[in-house]
Formats: sequence, structure tokens, C-alpha cells
Amino acid sequence: MTKQIIIAGSGFAGLWAALSAARAVHLAGKGEEVAITMISPTPNLIIRPRLYEAVLENMAPDISALLTAVGVMHLPGIVDSIDADHKQVTFLPRDGAPQTLSYDRFVLATGSRLFTPPIPGLKEFGFNVDTLDGAQALDAHLKSLASRPESLGRNTVVVAGGGFTGLETATEIPTRLRAILGEQAAIRTIIVDTAREIGSEFGTGPLPVIREALAETGVEPRAGLRVAAIDADSVTLSDGERIPAQTVIWTAGMRAHPLAAQVPGDHDNLGRVVGDAFLRAPAADGIFVTGDAVRAATDNIGNVAPMTCQHGLSLGRVAGHNAAAELVGLPTHPYSQPKYVTCLDLGPWGALYTEGWDRQVRFTREEGKKIKQEINQIWIYPPAPDRDAVFAVANPDYVIVP
Ligand SMILES: Cc1cc2nc3c(=O)[nH]c(=O)nc-3n(C[C@H](O)[C@H](O)[C@H](O)COP(=O)(O)OP(=O)(O)OC[C@H]3O[C@@H](n4cnc5c(N)ncnc54)[C@H](O)[C@@H]3O)c2cc1C
Repeated sequence: MTKQIIIAGSGFAGLWAALSAARAVHLAGKGEEVAITMISPTPNLIIRPRLYEAVLENMAPDISALLTAVGVMHLPGIVDSIDADHKQVTFLPRDGAPQTLSYDRFVLATGSRLFTPPIPGLKEFGFNVDTLDGAQALDAHLKSLASRPESLGRNTVVVAGGGFTGLETATEIPTRLRAILGEQAAIRTIIVDTAREIGSEFGTGPLPVIREALAETGVEPRAGLRVAAIDADSVTLSDGERIPAQTVIWTAGMRAHPLAAQVPGDHDNLGRVVGDAFLRAPAADGIFVTGDAVRAATDNIGNVAPMTCQHGLSLGRVAGHNAAAELVGLPTHPYSQPKYVTCLDLGPWGALYTEGWDRQVRFTREEGKKIKQEINQIWIYPPAPDRDAVFAVANPDYVIVP
């Protein structure tokens, strides 16, 4: 009987898991014996790392032809539940009744979601750049500000969270606001974080660079504070300051997709399944976990993969390969990703490129920006639907960052 690999998710990890699984099945010459099925709402790769950008074009490339080229079937819909004991998932198709699907190997690649704490007004008035819908809603809102009466609140954007997403979003906002409200408008962009200084969590090398970029782009830091409440016209901070602002963008905190909680075994404080060296869920026979849904060691000196696309691409390749390798008799491959780089976009100032877990500054300003643009516009996009070319880069030890 045909063996079934089901992959939930068509993000970076899910896509590369599918391509890598297809490669392994092909290498073993067992295409007739193993079926690979990907389930996700639509056959698109949402380019989440770019959703802070001003122009939301080509943010959801179609991967149908690519999946077809390597022999992976896509089912539009979602996985609603996992029954690890019976090796089954409930599939809710986009059209039609729920179905129960059996698997021999299941790869959970449903990613992560923005964590939204119960702050008064956040659900009603907060915007985000976490999903394409969220980024489009923010874009439409920003553009609509031009038709509102001039006021301090109209001209002010507050970004909650001074991590990667918050900084990338905030430093882009002044240019976006000026394009919408005019060069003469008295615009304000404020970034709020509980850290002792915005950017301090990036380490001593990046901190002065971030400080400089915020000053140059005109983003006002409010450190050591949290957003306490939001309404249609203002934001109240934890020290009681009320800032008139009709736009609040929430970027603080990610959590693994809720399906991760249905995988038996240990989970970390972000809700990720604690995977073994091969990205198996150790307490669930036949289940692999990957991307933002897994807590995985990147090396043997204590580093753990953060929730990033950079790691998702490799985690996907390893999980997909191993899921297929176990079925077709190829050697499995341990996950390892000792090299870590970051590239933080800081708007018109440029970008900050660092290497190592201690984030040593390597490139800044235009030099950094060139790398960021290459990452954002080329590296993370799906490859062309050419099976042999895809298989040449879908191996589990493919190194994305040389
Ligand atoms: C604004 C922003 C900026 C970022 N910047 C960077 C950066 O500079 N560098 C970096 O490395 N990372 C960055 N990231 C993080 C990066 O985007 C994530 O780490 C990455 O998307 C995780 O990949 P993934 O495949 O695990 O999950 P996702 O990309 O979230 O994909 C999850 C997939 O699962 C699907 N899905 C969801 N629910 C179900 C279900 N029930 N059933 C089936 N399918 C489902 C979704 O539709 C999607 O296809 C950024 C993220 C954001 C939001």
C-alpha cells in the first residue's frame, strides 16, 4: 500500500520539507510507493519577513507549479486536529466536509503567530505585520489617514515591541507617513519596549548602531515601558503617559501555532514542540516538527533555533528528508545549523548585518541594505519549478548562509 507523508503548512519550513521529502523519495527510486501531500489554506508561500515593507507586492508567490514539478500534491484547507495515537489528522478542506486522513509520517510546519496579550483595546485597535491580511489592513489604514482631519493622533504611529519586527517596522514608518500625509506634516513614530534601552537585547555591538538609526530616521524610543491600553485615538503607556495616536502596531512576541499543543511530549515556553536531533516529536510515533513549531538545538554548545525564516529553511529540509528517509530506507540526517547571522532593516538608514550568536557587526548602512534586499527579494523566494535544480538544493545539509 502507498505510504503517506502529510505536511501541514506551506511556509518556509513546510515548502522545504516537501521538496526535501520529494528528493529523498526520488533518490531511493520509490516514487510509486510514497505519496507526499501538503495541506495549507492556499498553495502560496507567504513571505512573512517582508510584511513590514511599504510596498506589499509579490508577498505570496504561487508554489503550485513547483509542487507539481516534484510530485507533491497540495490540498487546500487546514489541518484541524492531530490524533497521534491513531496516526490521523482531521483535514478541513476549503470546500467540503471534514475528512480524516491517515499518515505514516506527519510533518507539523504550521509556523507561529503573533502573541496578543489581553491589553484593553489591542484586539479592536491594534494593527500587525504578522500576516498578509494584517499587513494589508495596516497599509489601507495608513493610506486612509490622508482623508482624516489633521491632528496629533492622526500623524502619530506607535510601534509596540522593539525586537526585529518592531525595529524594521518603525524605521520604515516615517517614510511611509510622509508619502501619505505630505512632507510638511508633523509626523511622529514612537517605539515602545520594556528593555532598558531600545535595541539593548541585540547586544553591545548592535546597540549604538540601532541608536544611531533610530535618531536618523526620527523614531522616538520609549524604553522600560509597556503599552497598557489602546483606544481609537490614543495609547496609554505603563507610566501613565497618554500618547495621541490613531495607529498602533503590535509586534511584541510570537507563539507556536496552536496545533503544536496537540503533539504529545514536551513543549517550551513559546509553545514549540521539543524535537529530537532528527526533528522527531519524541513522544509521538511518526510525527516530525519543524520551523517555528519546533524547539531544536542548532549545535552542541547550547544554542537553540530562534523563530526565523533562516532556521525554518534548514529545519524544513531536515524534517522533510527524515520523514521520507525513514519510509524509503535512506539514512536520516541530524539537524545542525551552527552559523547564525542576522540582517536587520533600519529603513532609509540602511541595514545592520551581524554574524555569530554574539551579533558581531559586519556590515551597516548601504552595504547591509544590499544584503537585506538580496535576502528579502531572492534568497527566501521559492525556486523555479525545475525538478533537478530543486533537488540539487533540497538536501538536508544544504547550507543557506555560507
Ligand atoms: C514582519 C516579520 C519580519 C520577519 N523578519 C525575519 C527576518 O528578517 N529573518 C528571518 O529569518 N525571519 C524573519 N521573520 C520570521 C519568519 O517569517 C518566520 O520565522 C517564518 O515564517 C517561519 O516559517 P514557518 O514555515 O515555520 O512558518 P510560517 O511561515 O508561519 O508558515 C506557516 C504555514 O502554515 C500554514 N498553516 C497555518 N495553520 C495551518 C493549519 N491549521 N493547517 C495547515 N496549514 C496551516 C500557513 O498558511 C503557512 O503556510 C519575520 C517575521 C515577520 C512576521
